[in-house]
Amino acid sequence: MKEQTEFSSRKVGERQIAELQAAAEAWTPRHVLAWAFETFGNRVAISSAFGAEGMVLIDMASRINKDFRLFTIDTEFLFPETYRLMDRIEERYGIAIEKVYSLLSPEEQERTQGAALWGRNPDLCCHLRKVEPLRRKLGELDSWITSIRRDQTSVRSAARRIEWDAKFGLVKINPIVDWSAKQVWRYIHDHDVPYNELHNQDYPSIGCTHCTRAVRPGEDPRAGRWPGFAKTECGLHIIEPVPVAAEAAPAETAECGL
Ligand code: SF4
Repeated sequence: MKEQTEFSSRKVGERQIAELQAAAEAWTPRHVLAWAFETFGNRVAISSAFGAEGMVLIDMASRINKDFRLFTIDTEFLFPETYRLMDRIEERYGIAIEKVYSLLSPEEQERTQGAALWGRNPDLCCHLRKVEPLRRKLGELDSWITSIRRDQTSVRSAARRIEWDAKFGLVKINPIVDWSAKQVWRYIHDHDVPYNELHNQDYPSIGCTHCTRAVRPGEDPRAGRWPGFAKTECGLHIIEPVPVAAEAAPAETAECGL
């Protein structure tokens, strides 16, 4: 792997990524992961909320590097099924998930922002509970690995397999960016990968309890996220300004960013 040798001995920045990007589009997900681990060592980590795509990456990574780093943004509003899945992942793959929390406990958020912020200003709630913690975590890394796919949302449609993340100032790696949902589930079944039990109950996309519902027949897979709002992203994968304070926010909001 020629590029691996060239890039492994120095810090990879925006210019080097631009040079590598076209070639990387032809790499397999395993090749991308192997390159990431060899290039960045313990300065790269998988970010996951443990959806089906994230589980594929976790399983693939475990076959390449037993000591891979895995972190999650724990909003403290996750489903019990998601917390149970985290326990299963730690047991099966022999790793400790790095859990990152908001600077505000749920009680502090209610005291400073009022009750049920997610129902009035989900952009701000996601900023406090997801985007700010992610920014803090990424500050200790040179690269992060995500499981986004291009056909999930319009925001993700232009994502590359390897790209410079100008929002957070590090390399962003999306190994299965061109996969379909069918490929994801084929991998899960072929490799007996654990997954969130809620996927069997019409929850194709799973986030916080307050902002996720089951989808109805014929609905878009992400229709169950932030129902009632125009939001389709929590803010991690888009470039957006810091949301305004709750009392000044409009009832209808854009995307949240994760
Ligand atoms: S998904 Fe909902 S509850 Fe979770 S951080 Fe975003 S707005 Fe808040």
